[in-house]
Amino acid sequence: MKTHFDPYPHCEEGEEQAVCGTWMGEASNLSGDWSRVDCQRCLGRKEKISDAVAAEENEIVEQMGHMAAHMREKH
Ligand SMILES: [Zn+2]
Repeated sequence: MKTHFDPYPHCEEGEEQAVCGTWMGEASNLSGDWSRVDCQRCLGRKEKISDAVAAEENEIVEQMGHMAAHMREKH
């Protein structure tokens, strides 16, 4: 059993593919804690995955900012 990294372990949506690209079966675990991740593919891409997560979070924050600005314009 391997533990893959999951930046959003509390997300309700069922993930079928781990961040490293591995299709997950029932024998796969997910963890948001790198110290518990033992998938070599995830660990090998740790830096890239961390960058991607940070970029995605920035994007979400930016989109929320646009949305908030849009809402203010409408009302
Ligand atoms: Zn993995």
